[in-house]
Amino acid sequence: METGPVHAPGELIIDLGAIAANYATLCETASPSAVAAVVKADAYGLGIAPVSNCLYSAGARLFFTAHLDEAIALRAVLPRADAEIGVLNGVFPGEEGAFAEHRLFPVLNDLGQIDLWQTFCAAAGALFAAIQLDTGMARLGLPPYEIDRLAAELDRMAGFETRYLISHMACADMPDHPLNEAQRARFDDARARLPHRHAMLAASSAIFLGEGWRCDFVRPGVALYGGRPRADMPNPMRQVIQLSARILQVRTIDAGTTVGYGASYRAQKRTKVATVGVGYADGYLRSASGRASAFLNGVRVPMVGRVSMDLLTFDVTQAGPVAPGDRIDLIGPDHTIDDLADEAGTIGYEILTSLGKRYRRRYIAAGTGEGSPL
Ligand SMILES: *Cc1c(COP(=O)(O)O)cnc(C)c1O
Repeated sequence: METGPVHAPGELIIDLGAIAANYATLCETASPSAVAAVVKADAYGLGIAPVSNCLYSAGARLFFTAHLDEAIALRAVLPRADAEIGVLNGVFPGEEGAFAEHRLFPVLNDLGQIDLWQTFCAAAGALFAAIQLDTGMARLGLPPYEIDRLAAELDRMAGFETRYLISHMACADMPDHPLNEAQRARFDDARARLPHRHAMLAASSAIFLGEGWRCDFVRPGVALYGGRPRADMPNPMRQVIQLSARILQVRTIDAGTTVGYGASYRAQKRTKVATVGVGYADGYLRSASGRASAFLNGVRVPMVGRVSMDLLTFDVTQAGPVAPGDRIDLIGPDHTIDDLADEAGTIGYEILTSLGKRYRRRYIAAGTGEGSPL
């Protein structure tokens, strides 16, 4: 399946087979825990419809988005009766009906939302929900004093099924951080006091912390899409995306010539520079200016000068013959989303969710190894 502009200089290949393989790897690692799939932000920028259907085929039956509208969109493109869809960012007054209409469930993040859902369920019939506990991140979910209050007033949650009791880890990518053990202990304590069907704590990184964090379900996002769960070990996930772009122009400049805005790069010797038709308007982060690299003819080539809106410049002196129209690999097996993130001073998540709308997108269907229609 191909989508996006026809004559785009940049081509983004999304390997659904690799996503399915990553789901299988996570199932194996987390076993006997079950594996939900986080598909918020358009499946981390990769396209919620093809990605979610791929994950369903791979066995996923529980999906999470961040926003209600994302969940409504997901229900429309994943019309499977047995797929459960949860909304991490909660429910607000007036939205309850939309949850029921589209068969979604909210992640209730405070006592007010719990009361709202209980009142709605009393009128609408038995529904279920997740409850999120803040065990040490101070971001979203019932803070500790609300957990205590709920445990003392259990009838506040008696009118619906708490199918999932969840929490989220702050430092799971740092295995030695003391907060990991503290959050696990607080979650175990709360689990013992609050009725629920399944407990769920780990996202991508915490799956690799150990059995104590895996509970009944795990809830990965970025690892499904090839991101490294932890920086301190080899990445066990398969790379999912490849981004290549057309070279628009090639020139040889003399020593002393500067390249790009701000003249931030000055050639020390005669240098061959290739100009590529991708820029920060495509989500290629400007913070990678002068630090990123790419691959041309299998050779790593360094970026020179700043990232422009629609253009990048690389020193291709060492890369052999090169001409306008040739393609350069910006992201691929030799230069992963995490490599580019390191160069840009960010995380792979931001590289993925920044991928712009101007690329031609080609999906490689799971099980075919090639770009046949879905
Ligand atoms: C985004 C998110 C996830 C998925 O996190 P990854 O690090 O991408 O695996 C899981 N749970 C919550 C609450 C999230 O916000």
